[in-house]
Amino acid sequence: MKVQRTLAMALAISFVATVGIVTAADAQDYDLVITNGRVMDPETMYDDVANVGIKDSRIVVITKDKISGKETIDATGLVVAPGFIDTHFHAVDPFASKMAVADGITTGMDLEAGASPVGEWYAQREKTGWQINYGTTSSLAVARLRVHDPELTIIGPVDATTLFDWGGKAGADGVVGWSVTRSSIEQMNQIMTMLDEELRQGALGIGAPIAYMQRGVISYELFEAQRTAARYGRLTSVHTRYHLNSQTPTEAPIALDEVLANAMVLRAPLLLAHDNDYGWWENEEKLQLARTQGYNVWGEYYPFAAGSTLISADFLRPDLWEDANGYKYEETVYDPTVDKFLTKDEYLQAVQETPGKTVVIHLPPRQRWLKYWLTIPHMVVASDAMTGLGRDGTLLPWEADPSEYAGHPRTAGSYSMTLQLGRENGVPLMFTLSQLSYWTAKHLGDTGLEAMRERGRVQVGKVADLTLFNPETVAARATYKAGENGLPPAGIPYVIVNGTIVVMEGEVLPVKPGQPIRFPTEPKGRFQALDLNKWLGEHSINVPQTHVDDTGAGAQIKK
Ligand SMILES: [Zn+2]
Repeated sequence: MKVQRTLAMALAISFVATVGIVTAADAQDYDLVITNGRVMDPETMYDDVANVGIKDSRIVVITKDKISGKETIDATGLVVAPGFIDTHFHAVDPFASKMAVADGITTGMDLEAGASPVGEWYAQREKTGWQINYGTTSSLAVARLRVHDPELTIIGPVDATTLFDWGGKAGADGVVGWSVTRSSIEQMNQIMTMLDEELRQGALGIGAPIAYMQRGVISYELFEAQRTAARYGRLTSVHTRYHLNSQTPTEAPIALDEVLANAMVLRAPLLLAHDNDYGWWENEEKLQLARTQGYNVWGEYYPFAAGSTLISADFLRPDLWEDANGYKYEETVYDPTVDKFLTKDEYLQAVQETPGKTVVIHLPPRQRWLKYWLTIPHMVVASDAMTGLGRDGTLLPWEADPSEYAGHPRTAGSYSMTLQLGRENGVPLMFTLSQLSYWTAKHLGDTGLEAMRERGRVQVGKVADLTLFNPETVAARATYKAGENGLPPAGIPYVIVNGTIVVMEGEVLPVKPGQPIRFPTEPKGRFQALDLNKWLGEHSINVPQTHVDDTGAGAQIKK
């Protein structure tokens, strides 16, 4: 009898524990209750109609029992999914973040371009408040700007909203140093010291948009950057050396090989940005094989056949774009502010007059590949969302109408488009939810990031970041057509960030429950300076001799 009672007691306690600590008294105490929704958790594969109780920004109960709370959402006919997580999020301005949360994104992090100084960047958002969770890497591009364009007086934190402007201004003296100048060992140490200090302050890793600095960043500097992040066990997110103008059939995979080899010998996490070039299949195969060997490496895609970039980007130069790739400007380079493709002359003129302008790049082969990306395990959706610019090229205010946005529709529709295409191509919904949320949370959590270990799942105890959508009708409405670039999706009526409703019946509310996604600050840095003698000591038998610096690394590009 006694055993049974104890067994019965044990069973009762475990039952309460699994579905949440529920006492009659607590029932009414939930901050928010979501009833009758199809609750889907990609980690446990839980998939059932249930009620979810939220308290103090956390999920505290998932139950078939009737529960009630201060606020109630009737989610009949809706899926209750983990909030969508975006690692390629340049939408670091209020208006663009508004477009993103309407598309179901609860966490937006700019891991590719990054920001600097990271401490100031986070402080700015803590001060203003933010609608969704936010995070950033430390920017290799900005560190190079500080070292190779010292004539610039850079004010305040630089991120995707200002990087292109400063990048453009750097050319005023005739040398765009951050992009084309090779670093000496001293300069490399300066750059890595900056990156290390920001990692100490909690940066999520290092952002390395190498293709914009193809001529300046030598392979050893990229290796050193990955090593600087590896000392903290953190990732490097890489826009690889030949992306967007990769010469088929080899350059995209070779560009991955450069950073994958570094990541493997350093046992460091690696995030491959927008893996949507010719050769992506080879990249994904290598990443999958590396994961089976225990490496924390993965790739991203966004569900659109066109890309978007800076008109003065190095890889759009005629010798590369037209001669090497055979692309025609009037078929590929589209200016959303004037709703037309540019002729070569218009392109050359715009590079001179408005080097900071953003354009959309149409690449037909991607249309064929899209349906395959929907089915690749651990290939995660990341929008490469751009900043919220209007037709005059300036940032739009939060209250602006979505029709005023002039840019790539991926900012407003990447996640709804993936759900729509997944439905149309018969992809299991739980798989798609893993691409939209869980796998990103898992990989980032595996770098030691606590904030991601408690997100990307719908489980008791996890943070209540939730996206509620209608699986039958969810669809992107944003298109390439002027006036439609920023249209909010259909079928995503509710988005909850840290337990607070941010999207209510499809309307974005002026609330800011976003939290910083960041590592804890550490008392000491971990940087070790590069030094020729130390190198010889570590990598050679170090026969005593007079050392001369003939590596050539110090050589400057002659004007
Ligand atoms: Zn990129």
